[in-house]
Order: sequence, then structure tokens, then C-alpha cells
Amino acid sequence: MSAKGKKYLAVAAIATAIFAALGIWYAWYVTNLLTSESQMHLSEVATQGAASVQRQIARDFDMLEVLADGSVSDPDIPFSKKMERIQKQADKFNLFRIGIVDLDGNAITSDGYEFSVADREFFKGAVQGERVLSQPIIDKIDGVTQGIVYAVPVYHEKKIVSVLFSGYELKNLIDRIDISFYHNSGLAFIVNAQGKVILHPISDRIGQNIADVAIRYNSAQSVHAFQKALANREEGVSHFVMKNDDRFFAYAPIQNGNDWFLVTSLPAKSVFERSQKVILLTILLLAILSLVFALTVIYIAVTKKKSNEQIVKLAYYDTLTGAPNTARFGLDANMLFHEFGAQKYTVLNFDVKQFRYLNNDLGHGAGNAFLIHIAHCLADIAAKGEIYARVGADQFLLLFFTRDSAKKTDALLTQLREQIAAWSMPTGGYYFAQMAFGLYAIEDQNEDIMTAIEKANIARKSVKSNYESDIAVYDTEMQTRIDRDKEMEHALPEALKNGEFKLFIQPKYDLLTEKIVGGEALVRWVKPDGKMVMPGEFIPLFEQTDAIYRMDMYMLEQLCAFLHAQIEGGFRVVPISINQSRRYMYSPSYVDVICNKLQENNVPPQMIELEITENIVYTDLDKLMKVLDTLHQKNFRISLDDFGSGYSSLNVLKNLHVDVLKLDRYMLGETLHSEREQAIVANIIRMAKELAMVVVAEGVETYEQVLFLRACGCETAQGYYYAKPVCAAEFKKMLESESL
Ligand code: C2E
Ligand code: CA
Ligand code: CA
Repeated sequence: MSAKGKKYLAVAAIATAIFAALGIWYAWYVTNLLTSESQMHLSEVATQGAASVQRQIARDFDMLEVLADGSVSDPDIPFSKKMERIQKQADKFNLFRIGIVDLDGNAITSDGYEFSVADREFFKGAVQGERVLSQPIIDKIDGVTQGIVYAVPVYHEKKIVSVLFSGYELKNLIDRIDISFYHNSGLAFIVNAQGKVILHPISDRIGQNIADVAIRYNSAQSVHAFQKALANREEGVSHFVMKNDDRFFAYAPIQNGNDWFLVTSLPAKSVFERSQKVILLTILLLAILSLVFALTVIYIAVTKKKSNEQIVKLAYYDTLTGAPNTARFGLDANMLFHEFGAQKYTVLNFDVKQFRYLNNDLGHGAGNAFLIHIAHCLADIAAKGEIYARVGADQFLLLFFTRDSAKKTDALLTQLREQIAAWSMPTGGYYFAQMAFGLYAIEDQNEDIMTAIEKANIARKSVKSNYESDIAVYDTEMQTRIDRDKEMEHALPEALKNGEFKLFIQPKYDLLTEKIVGGEALVRWVKPDGKMVMPGEFIPLFEQTDAIYRMDMYMLEQLCAFLHAQIEGGFRVVPISINQSRRYMYSPSYVDVICNKLQENNVPPQMIELEITENIVYTDLDKLMKVLDTLHQKNFRISLDDFGSGYSSLNVLKNLHVDVLKLDRYMLGETLHSEREQAIVANIIRMAKELAMVVVAEGVETYEQVLFLRACGCETAQGYYYAKPVCAAEFKKMLESESL
């Protein structure tokens, strides 16, 4: 994982920890709050319950005392009548028993039972003048029923004459201290100072001791605290586990009820249930919050990573083809040198010759598609440890392991060339792309990769203007040549001004009569020092810029001037062909410009033949046909130059209206070696004638070639066998000497 990834993970972890801590604290806080709130409530219920029991006890005593003072103490009321009255009270208050006891302890109850209570604590107390509330006791009559007895002394003339007592069945008493709270999940009961249960809605709890049960499941400390509170008649709350039951107990002393306490008890569960709901909600909320937070962190991390990747892409990759750029290439190369130190590398730096024509003629969309295709070819060809890049508009690099022979290097380039050539144009058909491959074999891996790329670039440039080969290997002379090219380019405007470009003409001969029937204008650059530079050295260079247009128009002017002088002087005139570059032929003003030049010199277009090279055909046939139609309408003749040097097919000729077919000199040169190739040339000538074209054979150097061409029916020849290109004055002389 990257350092950044770790950073994000750490942030996420810390945030989660904070959220978790916050959650735990909140849960603890809520539980405490709700617990103490519940305890407070519980203890309030206990206090109120105790008060209500107190009131109840007080009322019970009051009722007994009213009876004692009223009916029972009155000696005038007959005993049976007294019994009747107390029986009424018994019915009214649902008493278990009610009765009168004489001073010896003989009790008579309203329901007719007679028995002694002399041994009962309540009697002993009451007869001494106390109000007594008994501890639970067993009924003497049935020996089963548990009850509580209230006893009060009965006075007559300020002397105790008897005791009145009432007995409540325990289970009925429970109903009377009916305290309901916490949706009936709470319990109220009465214990004594030792924690022994006196009254309890669940009857078998009666008699049990809370402290005895609690000591088994809880800490002695908490139980002792409870016992101490009871002994001191304090109120309070204890939290005990009772067997399987986890409960809170709140206790409050009943002031007039012996040593009794009212206890309210509540399952801890019902306290925690409330807080658990809140906690659950909080956890859920925190979980959602952490999730949202985590997602945000992830989102930020991902977008940041993406934008980083985007930046890396922009910095290191070409947006059009997706190929690495020079910077990436440089970095990767250094890594490879390190990794594959034992092996040597060669840099290939190449571009497409005249790529701009593809762009101009087919549009940028097609141009881009072609570049993408080249990038794919490179990706395909680069083996492990080999890399490629796009460095300029149509310029690419390939760093490959130096092959152990020139043949193997050639094989690699042939494979690349063929793969590139397999591209089919959007308009259909194949684009005849010519490459310029520059190679530089790196001997010393410590050499700066950028220097190596530049050296391969120099080799590429050297082959750019070469029609015969598309491969060049870097050598030190190249730099000097490049410097010379630059010099030449800079010298162009001055050369045009000084008229350094001279019109040379090479005559064309009729193969049968061997007389001059035409000529081809060829440029010669005569430097001020008299040194003559051949077109091969500067034309390809000029063709890379608009220099070619300026130079060709200058040549056309000279040719027009020459023809004008011939016509005006009444000398012999033959049609002269002139080379035109496709660089400007598609420009909309082209036809007008050349027509104007002819008009200015009064030269009829029939005297000028425009030579276009065969590879022009592959860029945009439709466009070309339109230009040629216009030129034909203006009465120019068109010839297709260098036929057979590239990939032109006879099929193209059927659609293309050219008047003259110029057979490339290489076609003828090889022809004499094989019968097969002789047959091809013979057929081309025959077919051209069928299409009503004049055939001109270029580069005729030998008598055998003349014989062969004659036999094939070729009419015209141009070559050293007859004449080399000569200056215009010399050509004029040649024309005149013939006509003599
Ligand atoms: P190109 O149009 O094919 O011209 C024919 C070339 O073949 C001329 O070379 C000529 O000197 C040469 N040649 C003629 N007969 C023979 C022969 O028997 N044997 C051999 N080996 N060569 C022969 P040059 O004058 O050096 O011109 C080279 C090329 O430069 C021309 O090829 C043409 O493409 C271009 N070029 C020349 N002048 C101009 C010009 O004014 N404008 C343009 N655009 N291109 C020109
Ligand atoms: Ca030519
Ligand atoms: Ca030619």
C-alpha cells in the first residue's frame, strides 16, 4: 500500500476509534442517567408507599379506637349488641376477626369463638395501654391462616376495662397496600428490620429474608450496607441479583408499623430496557455516522487517487494515442538499463514521411486514427524490456534490444512497416505511408538517453529526404549534413532573390526518329561560388515546407520566360514538362496562379506538361481527379511521373485522366535482367497505349534499353543515352541544330 493509502487508513481508523469511544461513553452515560433516574423514581414510590401504609395503619387504629370508645366501652350496651356492632365493622372492612378480650386474656370474637390470647404480645401491650400492631401470627382457631392483629385498650372512666382487637388476613392486607408502578413490572412488599418479608403479593415469599437470599449472589459489602440501612431505619436503594432475577430494591421505613419497611422492587431489565433502546438508537446513529464518514474518506481518497492518476497520465502519456511520452520513455529507459544491464539497446526514432498530406487530404480525424494505429503497432512489437513512446505529431520512439545482425534489425523494421501499412483508411483502401527510420545503437549505457534519442533523430532526419531508403543508422557525419540542410533552408530567400535556381532542361526523344519531341525542366542550384547543387539535395528538404512552392513557381516563371522567348523569336518550340509538388496542388488558388503565370508570358498551356508523382494518387483520388479535370479544361497536359517506383497499380490509371505515363528508371534498369519483368513493362506500355496515354521511358542509358522499348511500342525516351539535363541556352541550341 502506498504511503497515502496508509495515511487514509490511519485517518479512518482514528475516526472509527473516536466514534466507538464516543459511543461507549454515551452508552455508559445514558445507562447511568436512566439508572439513577429509575432508582430515584423507585425510591420515591417506596417513600410514598410507606406513607400510604402508615396512613392505612393509622386509619385502622382510628377505626378500632372509635369502636372502643364508642360502643365497646359503654357498660350500658349489652354485650350481644356490642358484638353485633363490631361484626358490622368486620363486614365493612373485610376483617378476618374482631373481638373483645377481658383483662385476663379471654377473647370472644364477633363470630362466636372463645379462646385465650393471654400469651399474645398484642394483648400484653394493649392491656398496658398501648396501640399494638402485631407481627404476623397464625390464627388460633384454624391454626393455618396468617394474619396481623391490631389491638387497642378499651377505657371506661379512664381505666382499661378490656382490649379490642381486629385481625386482618395477610393476603387481604396485600390488596390494601396496592401500589402499582412501572406498568406493573414493579412489586411492593413489606419487610422487617432484619429484611424478613412480612407482606408480599407472592405468598411463598412471605417469611423469606431478602438479606439471606441476597448474600448468596451479591457482594457481602452491598448486603451489609442494606442491612445497616434497615437497622438504622434509613431509606435507600440496593441493587441485588436474586437467583436469576436482577432487581433494584428501594426501601422506606413505615413509621407506625413496628420495625417495618415498605420495599418497592423493580427488575433491572426494565430499567435497562429503556436505556438499551436509547443506546441501540445511539449505536445505530453512530454506525451510520461512521459509515458516512468512511464513505466520505474513501470517496476523497479515490477521487484524489484518480486525479493523481490523471495528472500522471497527463504528465507521462500522450492523450491522443495513450502512448508514453518522452519523459516517461526517458525514465523507463534508465530503469531498463539498470535491470537489463547486460544487454545493449538501440533507439529507433521514426516518423511518417509527409504525414501532413494525410492530415490535409483526409482530415485530422483520419490522421489521428493513423497515429493511434501506429501506437498500437508499437505496443504490439515491443517485447518485455522494450519500450516505445510518441514524441511529436507523427514521431515515435522504440527502444529495443540491439539485434546481433543488420538483417535482424531489418526484419524488425519490416515487421513494423508491414503492420503500419495494414491500416485501412476511413474512406477505404490502404494508405501508402512511407516511414523515415533513424537508428542509434547505444554502446555506453551511461550515455544520456536524451542524447541517444537525438542521435536517432538525426539519423531519421537524414533519411527523411531520401527516396531510396527509409532506414538510416546514426553516424557522426549526419550532424554536419543536418547543419548543411539548415543552412540551405536559411539560404533560400537569398537564393531566390539572386536567381541562383537555374532552369535546366533534359530533352525527350522520339524512339523511332530519335529527334527531340519535348523536354523536362529540372532545377539546378548554382551557388555564388559556382558550385552546382543537385535537386536531390534540397528538393526533399524544401518539400517539408512551403519553400517548394516558392521555388517551383520561380521555375515555372523561368520556363514561361524561356518558351515566350522561343515563340516570340520564332524559334522551334517543343512542350516542356515541369515537376509539381502535391504539397500545393490541392490549394484552391493553385490553378489560377499557374494560369496567370502563363498568360503573363503569352504561353499557351499546351506547351506545358505538369508532372505529378505517382504517390500523390494515394492521398485523395477524388480531390486529385477534380484538380486534374480543371487543369485539362485549361488545356494543360498531365503526366504521371516515376510510375512503377512505388505501389501504383494500373487500376488507378483507369480512373485517373493523365496524358503521359513516365516509367521510372528503376523499372527499366531491372527489366533487362528477367523475362518476367520485361513482360510486365511490355504490358504496362501496351495497356497505357490502350488507355490513350503517351509512354515516356525515363533513365534510358543503353542501346539495349532503346531496342527493348522500341519493340514494346514505347514512343518517347528521356535519359543519358540521348542527353543529360542541360541549361536552357544549351537546350535552345540543341533544338536549333536539329531543325537545321
Ligand atoms: P525526376 O522528375 O524523376 O527527374 C528525372 C531525374 O532523373 C533527373 O534528376 C535527371 O537528371 C535524372 N536522369 C535523367 N536521365 C537519367 C539517366 O539516364 N540515368 C540516371 N541515373 N538519371 C537520369 P535530377 O535533375 O537530379 O532531379 C531529381 C528529382 O528532383 C526529379 O526527379 C524531380 O523529382 C526533382 N526535381 C527536379 N527539379 C525539380 C523542380 O523544379 N521542381 C520539383 N518539384 N522537383 C524537381
Ligand atoms: Ca519529373
Ligand atoms: Ca521521374
